[in-house]
Amino acid sequence: MSSLRPVDEVTDELLALVCPGTLTEIRSLDDSLNCCLAEDIQSPLNVPPGDNSAMDGYAIAIDSAALNKWMVISDRIPAGHMGKSLALGTAARIFTGAQIPAGADTVIMQENTESDGDKVRLLSLPEPLANVRSKGQDIKAGSIILRKGDRLSSNALALVASVGVSELQVMSPLKVAIMSTGDELVEPGSEPAPGQIYNSNRYALAGMLKNLGMQVIDLGIVGDTPEETERALIEASKVADCIIASGGVSVGEEDHVKAAVEKLGHINIWKMAIKPGKPLAYGVVDGVPFFGLPGNPVSTFVTFHIVAKPYLLAMQGFSDVRLQAYSARASFEFRGGSRREYLRVRTRMGDDGEIVLDKFPNQGSGIMTSVVWADALAEVEISQQVKPGDLLKIYPISHL
Ligand code: AMP
Ligand code: MG
Repeated sequence: MSSLRPVDEVTDELLALVCPGTLTEIRSLDDSLNCCLAEDIQSPLNVPPGDNSAMDGYAIAIDSAALNKWMVISDRIPAGHMGKSLALGTAARIFTGAQIPAGADTVIMQENTESDGDKVRLLSLPEPLANVRSKGQDIKAGSIILRKGDRLSSNALALVASVGVSELQVMSPLKVAIMSTGDELVEPGSEPAPGQIYNSNRYALAGMLKNLGMQVIDLGIVGDTPEETERALIEASKVADCIIASGGVSVGEEDHVKAAVEKLGHINIWKMAIKPGKPLAYGVVDGVPFFGLPGNPVSTFVTFHIVAKPYLLAMQGFSDVRLQAYSARASFEFRGGSRREYLRVRTRMGDDGEIVLDKFPNQGSGIMTSVVWADALAEVEISQQVKPGDLLKIYPISHL
């Protein structure tokens, strides 16, 4: 058995430590994508506001309609225009989205009619109320359409727009400082000296934070000295709500992050039974929560996604913070080790229609190609013997 702390225990403890932000601001819909809603939204109106046509066709009163009988076309109602009351025994030419005139209750689609000048006849009889989108069928006036703590996805913003609301009270986006530790790092665009590599973690972290609707403060590359590390942490703690460092949290002489956090504040959690990503650190610097993620790019990604993300979402005020898991069948054999492992896998439809998981061949913690290839992380428990056909828990990552 591993003496390292289990992943679930650490994530539960972290969630219990979260102090959610309280600052809110008013934003236009255009400025609210991915923000956390700070108020319930009640619809002031019905959507649709009245019965309207789901088709291009003819509005009729079903009681007076008959098969093949020529009817006078008594009106023409495009979307956005109100028609007059339908005279008994007539039909009104109507277009998708136009309000159904008084006296009509059914729309026959134009493909099921034949017209001749100002007359039309029905080639089949529609069901009563067919092709009518009834008033309030999507949203009833007075109903709550979104709640405080909901994420403002593009579709959520469309829903808000559909009831005419143009501004929202949102939680002020968290300011998250990121620092990339390592003497070996250079930024893309400059020439690496022998022994140097490009800073890639910065782009993964900044991108994932932006996807969460958070504001990124990039402190750049921080050299492997206690002084530089402390300086960056102090600067970060002055401007950010949370600090995320990559690298420098392991046990080598060149790893200064943990010691610097202990000097300036304290470390609550260090090391957990996760692969990749064992030396993850969590602590506080001058009252600001701090995550030290291991520097190997896959470790940075996995620990951010599995451990730091639920914490950040809770801090931002979201109500739904736990990662959504699904299950699917392995196509491979795998032997779990002394830590819970997150494999980079890709889903596909198997012969029997079930979801099957393929595993990227190289599961090394520096193999960023595995993360880009994968669309999910598959969880393998400590000592679990995975056989083809076994169900594994998976966490989708294709949207990241
Ligand atoms: P560390 O956690 O600092 O011991 O780093 C572990 C490995 O990850 C080393 O091979 C580092 O060169 C690499 N690494 C650390 N930070 C980054 C980064 N920002 N981008 C790419 N690789 C990194
Ligand atoms: Mg390092």
